[in-house]
Amino acid sequence: MIPPTFEYFRPDTVPEAIKLLTQYGDEAKILSGGQSLIPMMKFRLARPSYLIDINRIPGLSYVKEEGGFLKIGGLTRESELEHSKLIQSKYPIILDTTHAIADPQVRNLATVGGNLAHGDPANDHPATMLALGAQVVATGPRGERTIPIEEFFVSLFTTALKPDEILTEIRIPTPPARSGGGYFKLERKVGDFATAAAATQLTVDSSGVAQKVGIGLTNVGPMPIKARKAEDFLRGKKVDAASIAQAAQLAADESQPSSDLRGPAEYKKGLVKELTKRALTRALERAAK
Ligand SMILES: Cc1cc2nc3c(=O)[nH]c(=O)nc-3n(C[C@H](O)[C@H](O)[C@H](O)COP(=O)(O)OP(=O)(O)OC[C@H]3O[C@@H](n4cnc5c(N)ncnc54)[C@H](O)[C@@H]3O)c2cc1C
Repeated sequence: MIPPTFEYFRPDTVPEAIKLLTQYGDEAKILSGGQSLIPMMKFRLARPSYLIDINRIPGLSYVKEEGGFLKIGGLTRESELEHSKLIQSKYPIILDTTHAIADPQVRNLATVGGNLAHGDPANDHPATMLALGAQVVATGPRGERTIPIEEFFVSLFTTALKPDEILTEIRIPTPPARSGGGYFKLERKVGDFATAAAATQLTVDSSGVAQKVGIGLTNVGPMPIKARKAEDFLRGKKVDAASIAQAAQLAADESQPSSDLRGPAEYKKGLVKELTKRALTRALERAAK
């Protein structure tokens, strides 16, 4: 279907884009990769009167380590993450995640910022960012503010971003030595959204006891889920097959899936258990390297 009519702006700077957002408020939408917004407009599920295309704003696309953080620019494409030597060598959980998203054509356009800002519990980066303890930088008329990822997802398709703010950066604390992570997703066919997925990040000491634990779940609730009970259980324990199995069960208990075309709720809970188990096992292997 053809989208409803809209007015199109292509600002050259972040302040210009914010000025337009301030002027048009709720009626305006940022356009980045367009891989979620344009389909929604075509289905008439979104009807913004003003589209503010940030694709030509320079300086919003980068992947770098700085000041104790991995910093990902808001406009960084999935394909840039995939090909980043830094991500390939030090952040395998992010590499797992970006590889699990759609197909190369979509990944050439889709942005990490858009993946989070869309607030879709079926998107893959939210769970990974929850596991990694990321922060989101929002830039608006009053300057920058930093939002912890646990506070970023507010409800279905709603985030803590204000209508006049742009997601300009994602910050991930640089993991200490003996850290590792993994993302495991089950999809009905290649390129599909997750039936369920689990993201895990671990830091262990020299005896294999968990110092830090992050567990995020995809598409098993109205919002991306941080599996706090499973994290609390595993923190301070030796990570082995038995503790992983118990943490995975707790994660399954915390999931809130609904039955739909991807399967019944009980099946999805079972998947969460298995995928969390696999993701924790992979995280431990990587932490030990
Ligand atoms: C066929 C297909 C399969 C897909 N499969 C998957 C999948 O398996 N897993 C997955 O995670 N995703 C999947 N996606 C979604 C894709 O990854 C999206 O592109 C992504 O979720 C949104 O990023 P975008 O840059 O395209 O955002 P857009 O579509 O441009 O925008 C999405 C929303 O976020 C807002 N927004 C975007 N950027 C910003 C910003 N910087 N600041 C503030 N607001 C912003 C927009 O206003 C809009 O409301 C798929 C898409 C397609 C078309």
